[in-house]
Amino acid sequence: MADKIHIKDLEVFCNHGVFPEENKLGQKFLVSAVLFTDTRAAGLSDDLEKSINYGDISHQMHDFLQKNTYRLLERAVEELAAHLLKTTPRLECIQIELKKPWAPIGLPLAYASVEIERSWHTAYLGLGSNMGDTRKYIEDAVHALAQMDDCRVEAVSEWIVTKPYGVADQDDFLNGCLQLRTLLPPRELLGRLHTLEHAAGRTRTRPWGPRTLDLDILLYDDLVMHTPELTIPHADMHHRAFVLQPMAEIAPYTLHPLLKKTMLQLRDALK
Ligand code: AMP
Repeated sequence: MADKIHIKDLEVFCNHGVFPEENKLGQKFLVSAVLFTDTRAAGLSDDLEKSINYGDISHQMHDFLQKNTYRLLERAVEELAAHLLKTTPRLECIQIELKKPWAPIGLPLAYASVEIERSWHTAYLGLGSNMGDTRKYIEDAVHALAQMDDCRVEAVSEWIVTKPYGVADQDDFLNGCLQLRTLLPPRELLGRLHTLEHAAGRTRTRPWGPRTLDLDILLYDDLVMHTPELTIPHADMHHRAFVLQPMAEIAPYTLHPLLKKTMLQLRDALK
């Protein structure tokens, strides 16, 4: 997203700081934001409703920083960015810098500041279950994701019954995929998925064995990463019909960032 709206050095008198005097007396802060949003529709129509009102955002930043008091600039900008991304339609990404010109360090300085960039991301998740009320486990997981204020479920595939993969002597699976808009970075998203698996009473008995609920991150934007705990794109997704069939349904033209093939192409290559 190349279009930007800037708010520069908005003054806010508030109480953030690690010293008790700072929390009591307060001091001047300067907050700047770069809002990434598509301004094309507003540019063509001259209609403010089609853009983001920088006056509103300035007031929101001002009120938020006065209403909440944090010790660290890091925490203040983290919370402010999350608040604005969750509540502002059409805001894709935000850069926020919070400056402290009167930082009490006993030396003269122009300011100390923290600047961060946060944005919405698109992830695709694979869901599976082959124990107990499989449909309920899966639908409860979708519902739980939809309830999270830093996630939006944007598309859900049909649920398909599939034969077990890897270990054959177990019940059939119910599988599907969903498209998620999320503010969570990959490892935090994985942590949330583990919490949901746990809540479904999942125990890890044997690899590829029966489970009440299995949640995998298939894709995360066009990210490629590999750590001991997390591989994205999911290392085996391009071999699994039970992943590619639902992915071809909800994201047919989405590219696998390593194989450079669409979900449709990958599914058709399996047949
Ligand atoms: P599973 O038995 O398939 O649920 O394996 C789960 C483990 O695989 C998790 O604890 C993760 O640490 C690891 N893992 C690696 N890559 C991924 C991924 N893309 N999505 C989910 N889990 C992953």
